[in-house]
Amino acid sequence: MFLAPSYMGFLYEVWFDRHYRYTSQASTPYSRLGDYQLFTTSGPCGGNNIRTHSKYSPDFGDGIAMALSVRKSLDEYPPVPDSACAPRNDAFAFWKLPMELATGLAASTDYSESIIRRYLFEEYLSEQQRKPSRLLNYYYLFKAIIPVALRHRINAIAVHSRRPLEFPHWPCETALLDYLRQWVNQSLLSLGLDDVPHISFWPDGHRCCIVLTHDVESLVGFDRIERMADLEEKYGFRSALNFPLKQYPLDWRRLEALKRRGFEFGAHGLAHDGRLFRSEADFNELAPLLEQLARERDFRGFRSPSTLRRVEWLSRMAFDFDCSLADTDPFEPQPGGSCSVFPFFLGHMVELPYTLAQDHTLIHLLRKDPLPVWTAKLHWIASIGGMILTLTHPDYSGVEPHISRYETLLKRLSEVPGAWRALPSEVASWWRQRSAMALTMRNGVPVVSGAGCQRAVARQLGDEPLAKWEHGQ
Ligand SMILES: [Zn+2]
Repeated sequence: MFLAPSYMGFLYEVWFDRHYRYTSQASTPYSRLGDYQLFTTSGPCGGNNIRTHSKYSPDFGDGIAMALSVRKSLDEYPPVPDSACAPRNDAFAFWKLPMELATGLAASTDYSESIIRRYLFEEYLSEQQRKPSRLLNYYYLFKAIIPVALRHRINAIAVHSRRPLEFPHWPCETALLDYLRQWVNQSLLSLGLDDVPHISFWPDGHRCCIVLTHDVESLVGFDRIERMADLEEKYGFRSALNFPLKQYPLDWRRLEALKRRGFEFGAHGLAHDGRLFRSEADFNELAPLLEQLARERDFRGFRSPSTLRRVEWLSRMAFDFDCSLADTDPFEPQPGGSCSVFPFFLGHMVELPYTLAQDHTLIHLLRKDPLPVWTAKLHWIASIGGMILTLTHPDYSGVEPHISRYETLLKRLSEVPGAWRALPSEVASWWRQRSAMALTMRNGVPVVSGAGCQRAVARQLGDEPLAKWEHGQ
């Protein structure tokens, strides 16, 4: 459902209070963040509008035929491998419209893929920005001997002193969602249709999705995992924990106990040493070892340490799913984002972008209470039926006072109506199944076929918040 006026007011109050203080106390480079606004009281439509669009966001001047304002020829980039049988990320595949419409929309469907990939695979960034900075190599040389508190300080200074990206907007970026919505609405218009069904985004009639993930950076964090797991269980959740596989010894007895309780595990690289995506030689040496260790432990998911990445290499990795990209994260060592609050395909993997700001970012880099940002964004994602995917660290959030904030987050997540509480592996499996399903019309009745179709719901686009949502509504 759309945001009710009273709820919009609440969101606005929460955000404005934080945003105002945040920008008014900022230093010069930091104050550039004042351009990031989540909510505003003024605008073309007046009232308490939601406005997640940065003035720097690419604009959709001519609707479906738009091109990004940050133009880059596709030839400038090494393409993300597009294996013949890899699922597609075009707009038709995203919406899963009736197959009867496929032929009539074939041209705009093909075109949409070239637009969408620019967001998903960060092709709006320069080639230099799409890989880890060389300066990080110096940082990793000394990282092991720098005390944790000093590390946070260095990271904060680095983030505040570098030139911020003009795009994507933080904490929400709607450019891709705008494009997908415009594409489907203009497609219906071009076919003379008012409304059609599509395969709903989530199974079993759920209206949005909640996924909890953790990266466990050290033995300090490892010692806190049960404490966080207990809290999650208390609110009806399970989570995925990602471990660097060669950094510290894992206590398998404790992990087995967590697995029996319904938690799952993934690989967080081999070590937090910045090597995996440093050079092609490093990647070719380390990736097979990482994949082999993960296979032996039945770890099906991956998140890159510090979310460092080269998307074209990442897409070749042999995991079921990856969680290395954000929808928007200007604060990571490699800033950027896919602009997506839905899963998508990265080669043969399902990409599950994290969509709530990291605890580390808010607590240690921005020195903010994370709850207002988390709360505003989780409600916004829920309101458009997207995927709320958290990335927190037992190393940082596993102790007071932060664990109390995490518990409040869990409580608020547990109150989101109609949410599918899922593990990353379940979401990846569902998204893969949904991608292979077909929706057809038989005597005016929508019928979904394909593996897992009994869980699918054919829903009218008119009942799908994302298809209707617009800025200023
Ligand atoms: Zn990490």
